[in-house]
Amino acid sequence: MKPVYFFDEGDGKNKKLLGGKGAGLCEMTRLKLPVPPGFVITTEVCKKYYENNKKLPKSIIAEVKRNIAKLERRTGKVWDSQDNPLLVSVRSGAAISMPGMMDTILNLGINDKTVKGLTKKTNNPRFAWDSYRRFIQLFGKVVFGVDDRRFDQVLEFIKEKQGATIDSELSEESLKEIVTKYKEICEEHTGKKFPTNPFEQLELSIKAVFNSWNGERARIYREKNNITKEIADGTAVNVVSMAFGNMGNDSATGVVFTRNPGDGTRHLFGDYLVNAQGEDVVAGVRTPKAVADLKKDLPKSYNELVKTCAKLEKHYKEPQDIEFTIEQGKFYLLQTRNAKMNATGMIKTSIEMVKEKLINKQKAILRLNPEQLEQLLHKRIDEDNVSNYAILGKGIPASPGAANGIAVFDVKKATSMGENGSKVILVREETKPEDVPAFFASVGILTSRGGKTSHAAVVARGMGKPCIVGCSELRIDHENKKCTVNGTAVNEGDLITIDGSTGKVFVGEVPTIEPKITRDFKTILEWSNNAKRIGIRANADTPEGAKLAREYGAEGIGLCRTERMFNASDRIGLFVDMIMAETLQDRKKILEKLGQLQKSDFIQILKAMEGYPVTIRLLDPPLHEFLPNPEELANKVRTLEQRNALEVERSKVLLARARELAEVNPMMGHRGVRVGVSYPEIYEMQIRAVFEAAIELKKQRIDAHPQIMIPQVSSLEELRYVKEIYDRIKDEVEKENKTKLKINFGTMLEVVRACLTAEQIATTAEFFSFGTNDLTQATFSFSREDAEGKFLPEYLNKELLERNPFQTLDTNGVGRLIKLGIKNGRSVKHRLEIGICGEHGGDPDSIKFCHNSGLSYVSASPHRIPIAIVSAGQAALAGRVRKKAGKIKRRK
Ligand code: PEP
Ligand code: MG
Repeated sequence: MKPVYFFDEGDGKNKKLLGGKGAGLCEMTRLKLPVPPGFVITTEVCKKYYENNKKLPKSIIAEVKRNIAKLERRTGKVWDSQDNPLLVSVRSGAAISMPGMMDTILNLGINDKTVKGLTKKTNNPRFAWDSYRRFIQLFGKVVFGVDDRRFDQVLEFIKEKQGATIDSELSEESLKEIVTKYKEICEEHTGKKFPTNPFEQLELSIKAVFNSWNGERARIYREKNNITKEIADGTAVNVVSMAFGNMGNDSATGVVFTRNPGDGTRHLFGDYLVNAQGEDVVAGVRTPKAVADLKKDLPKSYNELVKTCAKLEKHYKEPQDIEFTIEQGKFYLLQTRNAKMNATGMIKTSIEMVKEKLINKQKAILRLNPEQLEQLLHKRIDEDNVSNYAILGKGIPASPGAANGIAVFDVKKATSMGENGSKVILVREETKPEDVPAFFASVGILTSRGGKTSHAAVVARGMGKPCIVGCSELRIDHENKKCTVNGTAVNEGDLITIDGSTGKVFVGEVPTIEPKITRDFKTILEWSNNAKRIGIRANADTPEGAKLAREYGAEGIGLCRTERMFNASDRIGLFVDMIMAETLQDRKKILEKLGQLQKSDFIQILKAMEGYPVTIRLLDPPLHEFLPNPEELANKVRTLEQRNALEVERSKVLLARARELAEVNPMMGHRGVRVGVSYPEIYEMQIRAVFEAAIELKKQRIDAHPQIMIPQVSSLEELRYVKEIYDRIKDEVEKENKTKLKINFGTMLEVVRACLTAEQIATTAEFFSFGTNDLTQATFSFSREDAEGKFLPEYLNKELLERNPFQTLDTNGVGRLIKLGIKNGRSVKHRLEIGICGEHGGDPDSIKFCHNSGLSYVSASPHRIPIAIVSAGQAALAGRVRKKAGKIKRRK
């Protein structure tokens, strides 16, 4: 396969081969947009580089040289020339955009000889030397791994010496001094002369970009964003002839979104800097100007930008994120990609683009990332209470949502404190890609520098975390672990609140309120609902949970875990008494009281879900979970004995029972239906409570549809055992009340044997629901309690597993059992209702699997219902798109 493509040769649709950036550059070249000439070294070469023990094959180097020669012909510039030198940028770009996670080098090809050529050609020595010092810094950092701070120290020192406040004020002499010092830093670091041969520079840079694919931050980013090898495998390298934004005041560089990525509204959104290079905007070193000002500064280029944006949107049918450079009034495009937007932006643009007839409803749903919609369920500042809190300062609102937490100025500390459960707001001058772990661990990010497209802003938006940038009044004093804003000091650990929607920073913990679903979001839910075929139910065990789920669009409750009701403070004592009862008679007496409480719970939940099915699962956990921990109890007994306290006897009895019920392997122990077999009176009580609640609601003419579900069933015999209890209670209650009730009796499929024998179980069960939490545990023999905290991260890191199977269904293993369970069950009852109620019921990829497997519904936690609805809509629409594609192929 061809290893290198000149921009006019590449297929702009082949992102896998050319990377997103490379494909975009090829496509824009084809569209005759002003892209500086260049070429792409494919992702296949990156893969070969790794297979080849990180060596570039000779044939590739030869191919690169051939393309440089072509570049010389296209640009009229000459490689390594002291008259008219050709300089290039070397940019990374994988199939999926990973902003700031990999490396880029600018101004490559510059050396002591070509810097003269550049001076001669441009008649601008300051510019030439500025480009040279930038090159050494980036090259030194990326290729040699020199700590950026060493360069920054030199820069600051010389700026101070010259009395310059900003970089662009540096004189030619100062820049020359910086270049000499920068080279010394690199040479001291490597122990070798700084490379002057442009081909050597290029080869080292290509390797460095390939290496950055496997750098720590890129790997973490891929892991956190579920970017598997199928999605992106290696980075491409783009070698592009330089367009200079730092050639004077008629030059500029900027980043612009064709629509506002924060709220989706249709206007250009972005920043630019006059007389600067791209890295300055992204790194947030200087605070840039809003793109609207370009109209005044460089009106001709502004018009070109507007026209280009419109053309690109029409072509890609997606809002674009564009990088541009203006070199002495000439406009160049350096990149285009689909804009990463927050959830509000994505929803808004979906609705707007349908109105503009740019896309149809189908595309409007399919383009959404359901997982991202969770952002819309984020908190905001409680405006009624906000006046009680002082405003500390105001910055640029970069990622919406409100967060309160303790201010931490150090990246490592923020990471560890956040990971240990503290609510941390990371406060920095600016952020760099290596700070990303702290983003994951923080609830919000605040920076004193940078614009809307700075690193902090882009990363926080992608993660849906509140973020404020460019809060220029903020002065951070790292030594004393504090910052001051307009005279007010905030020490590390002090509570602050940030509002990423307005840019305001507050002192203290401002109350926040839960979000509401907007009209646009409702429209998307409506379209998704119309498209989806699988039902959406909720896992809820309180009336509030049921109400919320219903508001979000749930069509019933797929799992009501009844044990959670026993944990309420007014129940737990009774429940413990029930476990401690010495005789069956005593236990039944207590169960009667518990039954009344449970009945009133069921009534409330069934009312909240009127008209929809509510699956009530009988007691599942092992009984010891309701008793105090034996070790703690033993300590208590010892203390009580020393004090000769009266309760010592009762505590001893409790301890004895706790020890009796303790299990080595509780998740596989005396739980679920096994408890029901040992203590049928508990299940009797629960079944009766369901029937009595239904009777009560019938009297109130409330349309309640409870169904009873048995956990942990492994055999038909077990299910039959409980079914007999069910039949007896049903008979009794119906006779007592002279009425008939239809309450379905079903089972969970969460034990491997149940899936294998589902055709037998289906003879008694009226419905199935896959408990994929336990089924995953059983299939892998991974403890659901411990695996995620122990070895699973390592498994993911070492790529022994692609996804966490407790989060995303393992379709290859657990999925096969599910398919078998469905096939077996429906071989007996064709229309058997089969759902899923493990955590996977709210996971978009798992929902797609459930849809394709023919499940009747998925059940997810109330907050994930909207995500589940959109995912279900997407699954149905994707199926239609596939079918349509199949038909077209067949017709051919
Ligand atoms: C399951 O195992 O998937 C399930 C829903 O039950 P629980 O999580 O309560 O064990
Ligand atoms: Mg379970």
